[in-house]
Amino acid sequence: MISLRCVDKVVGVGDLKFQLHSQKRTFLFRADNTEEKNDWVCCLEKALSDNKNSIESRNLFFKRRSVDFSFEGSLELMSPRIKVYTIMSRDKLYLFKDCEEQFQGVGITDIDMRLALVKDGEKRSFTLTTPYRTFSFLAESESERQRWCDSLNECVSRSLSYDGVCESLWRVASNQQCADCSASMPEWASINLCVLLCEKCAGVHRSLGQNVSKVRSLKLDERVWTDDLIRVFLQLGNAKANTFWGANIPPSESLCVNANDEHRLQHITAKYVQGKYRKYHTLYGHQEELDSALCKAVQSADLLEILTLLHCGADIKCHTGIPEFPTPLSLAKRSGQSAQAELLTQNLNTAESFESVLKDVSIQSHCGYLFKPSSSSRPITEHKNKADFAQRWCCLEGGVFSYYKNDHSNKRGSMKTSEIICLSVNSPGKHVYEHTFELYTDEGRGYLFGADDANTVRNWSKAISMAMLPPALFNVCGPCDRLGRLRCVEGSHGIGWFCLSGFILHVLLENTVQTIDLRKLLSLTLSDSDGSMVLVWRGGTLHVPTDRRPHFVGWQTCIQQKSGSGDQPLSHQQLTELDVPVTVDRCLNHVTRHGLLSPGIYRKNGVNSHITELLKRFHNDARSVSWSELDFSVDDVANTLKRFLREVKDGVLNGQDNAKSWLNAAGLEDKSERIYQYQNLLSNLPIVNQATLKVLTHHLHSVQHLSNENQMTKKNLSIVFGPTLFQNDGKDVKATRVVEELIQNYCSIFNVSESELQRQLNLTTVALNKHKSERPSSKTTSSIICAVYLERIEEGLEVLVQVGANMTAVELVSEVLDHKEVKPTNEDFWSCYEILENVEMDRMLHYSEKVLTVYFSPVLKCNLLVKKNQYISSILKYLGMMENVGKSGTLRVCEVKTERSKNYCSRYCELSGTTFRLHKGLQNSPCEREWPVKELKVYNGYRSKLNSPTPWGITLVHEKRPWYLCCDNEDEFIEWTATFYSIQYDGDIWPSLLVMQSHNS
Ligand SMILES: [Zn+2]
Repeated sequence: MISLRCVDKVVGVGDLKFQLHSQKRTFLFRADNTEEKNDWVCCLEKALSDNKNSIESRNLFFKRRSVDFSFEGSLELMSPRIKVYTIMSRDKLYLFKDCEEQFQGVGITDIDMRLALVKDGEKRSFTLTTPYRTFSFLAESESERQRWCDSLNECVSRSLSYDGVCESLWRVASNQQCADCSASMPEWASINLCVLLCEKCAGVHRSLGQNVSKVRSLKLDERVWTDDLIRVFLQLGNAKANTFWGANIPPSESLCVNANDEHRLQHITAKYVQGKYRKYHTLYGHQEELDSALCKAVQSADLLEILTLLHCGADIKCHTGIPEFPTPLSLAKRSGQSAQAELLTQNLNTAESFESVLKDVSIQSHCGYLFKPSSSSRPITEHKNKADFAQRWCCLEGGVFSYYKNDHSNKRGSMKTSEIICLSVNSPGKHVYEHTFELYTDEGRGYLFGADDANTVRNWSKAISMAMLPPALFNVCGPCDRLGRLRCVEGSHGIGWFCLSGFILHVLLENTVQTIDLRKLLSLTLSDSDGSMVLVWRGGTLHVPTDRRPHFVGWQTCIQQKSGSGDQPLSHQQLTELDVPVTVDRCLNHVTRHGLLSPGIYRKNGVNSHITELLKRFHNDARSVSWSELDFSVDDVANTLKRFLREVKDGVLNGQDNAKSWLNAAGLEDKSERIYQYQNLLSNLPIVNQATLKVLTHHLHSVQHLSNENQMTKKNLSIVFGPTLFQNDGKDVKATRVVEELIQNYCSIFNVSESELQRQLNLTTVALNKHKSERPSSKTTSSIICAVYLERIEEGLEVLVQVGANMTAVELVSEVLDHKEVKPTNEDFWSCYEILENVEMDRMLHYSEKVLTVYFSPVLKCNLLVKKNQYISSILKYLGMMENVGKSGTLRVCEVKTERSKNYCSRYCELSGTTFRLHKGLQNSPCEREWPVKELKVYNGYRSKLNSPTPWGITLVHEKRPWYLCCDNEDEFIEWTATFYSIQYDGDIWPSLLVMQSHNS
């Protein structure tokens, strides 16, 4: 290593040689041929002249002490055994023969610390491992060694932070290509499978589910990328990882950059889920040997071996046989193998499911005896005796399910698994055989099979569902009660794959699996006339058209049952996103808005018949209940809540046995002991009961907070709610004590900070003011509540904002984002929306609209929401292409006169100039109505009760009368919306964020 900074000149010598002259020494070099020699001389001369012109410091090798920390001293190198003088600077460790040579500009080598791993050795020794070589050193003493190791480690992590994650990982050449399709500069990674991926492949990986592939971005998920994880990827790299994952890819099945989505999914599923191309470990199939090999490998430097073992069946939680370090992970940590430990950690929750998938490969063929009704012509729903069933030998093999009269001869029937559209595992006792399942085929036939034990049915269901379902779904859904495919508007080619297990519905649409908790649906509409279903949940809408084949009725029943029902315990009720029963949530909200200031709230009686009526409606379908203050007084609602809690199966405290434990706790002498017991009992409740108790207590806290107005002190409230929560006659005073102490110690028992409580009390007060409809005077500042919808629902919180009378929507957006510490990027456009109370319709506010005017609008009960604007880029793009703004075409239109009218007629619609015209029928028919566009309010969406034929609806409201326009597809929706906006605001429809940016700049 010669520093060019000490070289004065380069001199050619003859055809092949050249010299470098420094002050003290001359170095002679010889090239292979003249051309090469000339190249060298030329390059060196250029470098020297560049150096002369630079005003950089005179240091020979590094910017010593000028930029950062350095550490230096003598060490002994083990092989060859020589003394070296070592200097650490920035991201490199430099080795010199001695201190003197460094000043002469001559050194031995430098080691890139970004790729290095430091390991303690015995006594005075330690090693530095890099992908190309291992260096072993001896320090002068043990304490010296410790000092060296510490500062080398510090240097490693410091040097990693100099580069972004991308730059660090791409230093390994094979990491510059997607491990699956070879696209260049991949910016994504599967951190458990240890491969870097392009965006497209990452998308497919994500669709396989977290338990198969944990996908993270190199750029966006910075916090994931610890030094250890980076080291795993540097030491393995795509090339090494692929020697395992892709050892046997036949050329015909390899994946290229331009592969289509289907091929990509196929390849990636085969590669990682089915393990079709991987190089199986020689010990594959021998569990004990695999496990002990894993224990050995985690103490070594061989990450590839660990990856291989983990994905060939070694048990990540196996016993090491060492009591102090019982798991491979603890063993890796003990041995100081932090990268190994990281690799294990990333696979902790995934390896199990991998194992089961590997084992399941054998399940794809499955045989055994089952009982089947002997006459298949009768419908399977018809009651049968055990005598009607006959034993059949059944076989699932090569994609065909067959049944035989006896062992493999005398075939009675068969169906291809691709023709099975539904598998239903019945709850025990549905038929005369205790355990049964049903199969339905494409052509509309149903088959019933029974067995004496649950295990047999479970194994069959597993085998059949594996053969039926796309792997992307099978790998996430787990054991199911009912699964199969249904027609649905949003799926690919109009087909969606559905799996129902408990309350959870997994749906595979296009290439992504959606997980829907049916209890948390925003609405579920079953059409009376044809039975088609519309499911609306936070993530979107599903339209399932009716199907006359027999499997469909079963789907309807199951989905309806699992969407929560009123006569069940709390956890089986319809729920909000926060796991609170909808009935409780609605009642609490109503009382919060209308009853906090009402004297004697919760103590005063309501009208009994009203309470019975309202409770009946909640039982029936809590989500769809709406009422006006004229029908039910706030006392009616308060008493409905009390009666609901008093009567609900098992109560809030989950059964009388549990309730007794609470009473016992209340009898304890010591207060802190009581609080401790309450916390304990609370944490043992089911999630839904915990959440319910929490919101209820919070609510009661707010009520007594205003006891000056409503006269309901803690004491009064607890006398009312004691018997309600404990579902008893109220004679036990301990019940009252529990409620009072819950309210009193709300923060400590429910783990809520005082400031959080204060914030919530503020929100309540503001909500109160709003619903007193005190319109703010034009000069003052008001507090308003604005909801924010971030990426995840839990993050979508309410924010309290101080708003001046003239604050515009764009200023509110900026304020709210600041408040939530969201830094908008160039791709995200955030807007403020007006949300109508039923949440299904929203309207993007114009950036210049005055927020307070909208918020305190006397006509509509509305809320404000700030969220990303998913349509604005498409809208701007569309308008950019149009010369004249205007649009016409036929849409399905529905005028809503009553709640349940839903007649859609195709009508010709016309938007031109500043007028919207609705024709009587199709084009050329006379114009029936027309409105000035600027007088319309234009909302996205529609009321789900209308059972819209497609999810792309636009609602026009003029003088409180709504008209619904239904577009056939998203493009059409965007075009109409764009045209409306553009006309309403004279083309000035820049999204809030862009306006903000231009304001700032
Ligand atoms: Zn790729």
